[in-house]
Amino acid sequence: MEHAMIYADNAATTKTSAAARRAMLDAMERFWGNPSSLHSPGQQAKEALQTARDTVAKAIGAQPREIYFTSGGSEADNQAIVSAAKTGARKGKKHLITTAIEHHAVLHTMDQLSKEGFEVTLVPVDASGIVKVEDVAASIREDTALVSVMFANNEIGAIQPIAEIGAVCREKNVPFHVDAVQAVGHLPIDVSAQNIDMLSLSGHKFHGPRGAGALYVRRGAPLLTFIHGGAQEAGRRAGTENLPAILGMATALEDSCAHMEENAAHAAKLRDALIDGLSKIPHSALNGDRERRLPGNVNFCFEGIEGESLLLLLDDKGIAASSGSACTSGSLDPSHVLLAIGRPHEVAHGSLRLTLDQENTMEDVEAIIKATTEVVNYLRDMSPVWKALQRGERNYVIQ
Ligand SMILES: *Cc1c(COP(=O)(O)O)cnc(C)c1O
Repeated sequence: MEHAMIYADNAATTKTSAAARRAMLDAMERFWGNPSSLHSPGQQAKEALQTARDTVAKAIGAQPREIYFTSGGSEADNQAIVSAAKTGARKGKKHLITTAIEHHAVLHTMDQLSKEGFEVTLVPVDASGIVKVEDVAASIREDTALVSVMFANNEIGAIQPIAEIGAVCREKNVPFHVDAVQAVGHLPIDVSAQNIDMLSLSGHKFHGPRGAGALYVRRGAPLLTFIHGGAQEAGRRAGTENLPAILGMATALEDSCAHMEENAAHAAKLRDALIDGLSKIPHSALNGDRERRLPGNVNFCFEGIEGESLLLLLDDKGIAASSGSACTSGSLDPSHVLLAIGRPHEVAHGSLRLTLDQENTMEDVEAIIKATTEVVNYLRDMSPVWKALQRGERNYVIQ
C-alpha cells in the first residue's frame, strides 16, 4: 500500500537516493567480479572499490589506506572499541572512557568489555546534552586505553566539542574514537583538524544503502583483525567486499558532501520552524541544545502523555516519527539519553523525535505542527495524569 507519508525519521534511516540506487545497479551489472581475483573482471571491481575508498577518505580528510569498509556503523563502533581496548590491555591499560549518551553500539560494547575486566567511565552531559571537555580530561588516567565520544547524538542532535576533546586526548596520548554516524555527510568533518584517531560512519544515514559503513583508523594506530579469513581490508576484515553497497554509499556520500551547506541550511530552517511551532504546545520542552544541534533534529517532551501512543496516532495521520532511537522504541524503557539530560522517567516517556532533511518541505513542517498539536491535545484529554496535573493534584515537571 502506497500512501503519501511525511517522512520525519531520517536519524533512523534515510531513503536511498536515486544516484546511490543507480550506482548499486551499475555495480551489479559491471563490477560483479571479485576484487581479489587477478583477471580483468576482478581488477575492474578492485578499481571500483579503490575509487569508493578514495571518496570516503576525501569526505573526512583521511587517506584512502586509513579507511576500512564494514557492514555499517555498529560494526565499525564494535571493531574500533574492542581493538583499542585489547591493544591497551596488552600494555596493562584497562580503563575506557565514553559518555552517557552514546548509541547502544558503543554502550553495549563497553558493557561487554566491562564484563571482561575493563573499567568503564561514563562521562555525564549537561542539561543540553553536551559533554564538557574538562570532564573528559579529568577522567583520563595513566591506564586509559580509549576515549570514545560521539560527534552528534542520534536522539537529541547535540553536537559535541570533538576537536577540543581530541586535542586533550592527543596531548595525553590516548586513542580517540568518534561515532560520527549522525554527522558524516551532514556536518563538516576533518579527522586531522579535529584530532580524531578512529571514526565510524554508516551509509544509510546519508541516503546510501544499509549494510555498508566504514571505520577510519589513523595511520599507525593499531587495528586488530575483527573477522578472520582472507586478506580483504588490509587483513583487518575478511570477506568478499559488498561492492554494490560500498559504491552506493560512496555515491551518496559524494552527493551529501557536495550539497552539505545548502542541505544543512534547508534542514535547519525547517527545524527552527518546527521547534517554534511545537513550543507553542503548553507544558512541552525541547530536548537538547537549541544552537549546537544537528540541522534536521527536533526532539520534544510533552508532559502527561506516552510517546508510543503519540507515534501511532501520528502514523495514522501520515507522519512517520520516532520516540527516540529506533533501537529503543518498542521497549518500554525510557531513553538513556533523555535520562542523562535530567528528564525524569515519567516525562522521558512522552518524547517525540522528528528528524528532517533536504527532502522535507515547509508544508511538511506545518502539517507536523498541526497533527502533533491535535494528537497531544487528544491524548491529554484521555490521560489521568494530565487531569491530575490540571487539578493541581500533581506538579508539572515541564512549566
Ligand atoms: C545508526 C547509528 C549507528 C548504527 O549504524 P548501523 O549502520 O545502523 O549499524 C551507530 N551510531 C549512531 C550514532 C547511529 O545513529
